[in-house]
Amino acid sequence: MSGSQRIAGLLCLGLLGAQLAGVARGAEVPQPVTLFETGLATLDVGRRQVPLGYSVSAFGPVFTMHSVVVQLGGELKLGPLYQAHELIVGDTKYVFGPGSAAVTVGSEIYPLSQAPIPAEGGLKVPLDLFETIYGETMGYDFQWDHAARTLKVQRQPQRQVPVTIDIVHLQGVTTVVLQFPFQPRYRIHRAANIVEVELIGDRLNPELVKTLPTDPLVRDIKLGQQELRLILAQDAEAEDYVLQNPFRLVFDVYRKAPTVTAPTIDPTPPTRSSGVRTIVIDPGHGGSDTGAIGPSGTQEKDLTLTLARALRARLIERMPVRVVLTRNEDAELPLETRTALANQQKADLFISLHLNSVQSPSANGAETYFSSLEASDEYAAQAAETENLVAASGDDGDALYDLQLILWDLAQSQFLAQSQQLAKLVQEELNDTLGLNNRGVKQAPFRVLIGASMPAILVECGFLSNPKEEKELLDPAYRSQLINALVRAVMRYRAAAMGSDALADEALP
Ligand SMILES: [Zn+2]
Repeated sequence: MSGSQRIAGLLCLGLLGAQLAGVARGAEVPQPVTLFETGLATLDVGRRQVPLGYSVSAFGPVFTMHSVVVQLGGELKLGPLYQAHELIVGDTKYVFGPGSAAVTVGSEIYPLSQAPIPAEGGLKVPLDLFETIYGETMGYDFQWDHAARTLKVQRQPQRQVPVTIDIVHLQGVTTVVLQFPFQPRYRIHRAANIVEVELIGDRLNPELVKTLPTDPLVRDIKLGQQELRLILAQDAEAEDYVLQNPFRLVFDVYRKAPTVTAPTIDPTPPTRSSGVRTIVIDPGHGGSDTGAIGPSGTQEKDLTLTLARALRARLIERMPVRVVLTRNEDAELPLETRTALANQQKADLFISLHLNSVQSPSANGAETYFSSLEASDEYAAQAAETENLVAASGDDGDALYDLQLILWDLAQSQFLAQSQQLAKLVQEELNDTLGLNNRGVKQAPFRVLIGASMPAILVECGFLSNPKEEKELLDPAYRSQLINALVRAVMRYRAAAMGSDALADEALP
């Protein structure tokens, strides 16, 4: 989001926050907006001119959403009045609604010039909502001519997008880095052993392509005007993530782990689609954000990465799942990016790994959290505050943070029961395996969990501030037990999600 947008967003926060809270509770109804003009305009999409309902408020014109969606595409799901509406374009979901001058895109939130207005014939929305949705994803440009009462839609002029490609193979992983001077509009398509990056509305200009070294995992990189294709080895798979400043689209290419071939009991188990296929593991902290530091100097960021890598390996070994890490190196990653990545990957579970730290050196044991705006107790509230700290030091103001919490809470609220169930299983397994002091399942507004559109938990695996637990956590045998406990919890959760009779063949570690 640009600086000016952010400022505009902040200015109307007081009102907006209050209205959103009302929407979330379903209690208050937004004040009716004064409209100076209402009528029929023309929507000009080049080939066709069709009627378009419009009104003008003090903040500018609004247009009937439905008419534009019919012409430009997308799947519009209208909620009841005063509740969230959804528009799905391609792979992206946009959520907006009356009373809130903001739109959520995945887990990102952008302010709007005014809130959508409920009207006969459906919701009327401001131009910048169309620009956010169709400008970013499809390269459309919108121009409102008030004198002619015409909304003109055109393709944006094509840009030449320079791209620098870098490829390096290290320790069984090939990393392909596509670097751009600005963030292009793109979509990623996957088919068999091909990963395609398609530019939307722009053209590629391959600036600097190093001669492709012979690589065991990436056979070739093919460049077209509109797309770039990675041709992978037959048994390879690629995970993508984004790095900023400059914008880089990164692919880590691994050799596929041998999938566990379970004896087929029923060739088409009906519940299989609701199972757990993709798990995103988030090693807490990273880069200059070290997290907690133990008495002998162990840094939380290092230990969470070690645990996450081991958990990934063990999960893949034990069940046919795809496991993605939010970071696989010592890198700083904003909390929103972690959740955004999980949303992008369409993860079925999100597990954020952390280690606790408190003043008292004797505090010990594991805790598992799931998200909630309300902390379950004073202690849980403090834990969330500590883990949220990195976010608060970012460039977002506190007010914007509160607004995001409210909107993002809507995303996570539909998964609360499942998150709680997973948290309970993790806590049980940790207590049983490690004989740890049972600190229980707790709720708190952890920022890293709130934007997740899937069941999500945060595990404090132990107290780094406790000298004895620090020593244990540094012991590979102890960590192995800890990982096994987490794997068992995920397996039990997965079994429950897939139906009780499934997975009898998968032996618990
Ligand atoms: Zn932490």
